[in-house]
Amino acid sequence: MKIFTTKKALTEHLEKLRGEGYTIGFVPTMGALHQGHLSLLASAQRQSDVTVCSIFVNPTQFNDPKDLEKYPRPIESDIAKLEQAGCDILFNPGVDEMYAPDEQWHLDLGELETLLEGKFRPGHYQGVTQVVYKLFDIVKPDLAFFGQKDYQQFLIIHRMIDLLKLQVKLVMCPILREPDGLAMSSRNIHLSAEDRQHAIVLSKTLNWLNENFDPNKIDLLQKECFGRINLEPSVKAEYFEIADGGNLHPAQPSTRNVVALVAAKVGNTRLIDNMILSS
Ligand code: AMP
Repeated sequence: MKIFTTKKALTEHLEKLRGEGYTIGFVPTMGALHQGHLSLLASAQRQSDVTVCSIFVNPTQFNDPKDLEKYPRPIESDIAKLEQAGCDILFNPGVDEMYAPDEQWHLDLGELETLLEGKFRPGHYQGVTQVVYKLFDIVKPDLAFFGQKDYQQFLIIHRMIDLLKLQVKLVMCPILREPDGLAMSSRNIHLSAEDRQHAIVLSKTLNWLNENFDPNKIDLLQKECFGRINLEPSVKAEYFEIADGGNLHPAQPSTRNVVALVAAKVGNTRLIDNMILSS
């Protein structure tokens, strides 16, 4: 695997490959890699000639400085995992390589920015689009692979691509879970042994909803799920929403593409999960 830390060296290398007719598949990450990330890489490998993974803990998308500070950064083991998985190129820039001092950014992300995650993490999606735009501009991928795990992020990036008329095609990859159902996440390592057990309530509740979903009882089911999560010790739901998967508005009985999304604090760790109920 070739490792680049500067835009210039990566751009030059990719230009050569592009000139030879290779397609480029891109997997942006913040590192602390797990099987979920590696499944995105596997999809990229199946669908493109050259795979580029980036590891960059993007400061502008953290609304909580403590969260940024304690975000895991095990770069050596990440490199080993990518090598082992056969990734072609890693881009691992420092903050100064990605940002000039006092850089400004604003995109009109519409309502999507103020719903759900947007409500609880103000400014988060401005930071996400800012860094993903920069990364797309450097890598110029044909395909970019993102996880369903961050469902709202996927919609937001789609909107950015439409707004800025970018050429890249987005691919949504399924959520990888631990054997007991917990969605894999770099943040799971912060869970104490007890909280790790309590955290299962998120996927359990989504599964329960999936089995009991009735489009005529959306309000009732939503309240039931919110309640079930809050009954679990040391778990506090921020939202549990049954939404239209296209715009994240509350789902109606006639909504075709329904997705349930949840965010909760488990101890001090904030986790998100979702499940597509019908599409
Ligand atoms: P992150 O490093 O958390 O920014 O995630 C990088 C990419 O991996 C994003 O597109 C995430 O949606 C995706 N991802 C995170 N967790 C999972 C998972 N459990 N299964 C599949 N993809 C995931």
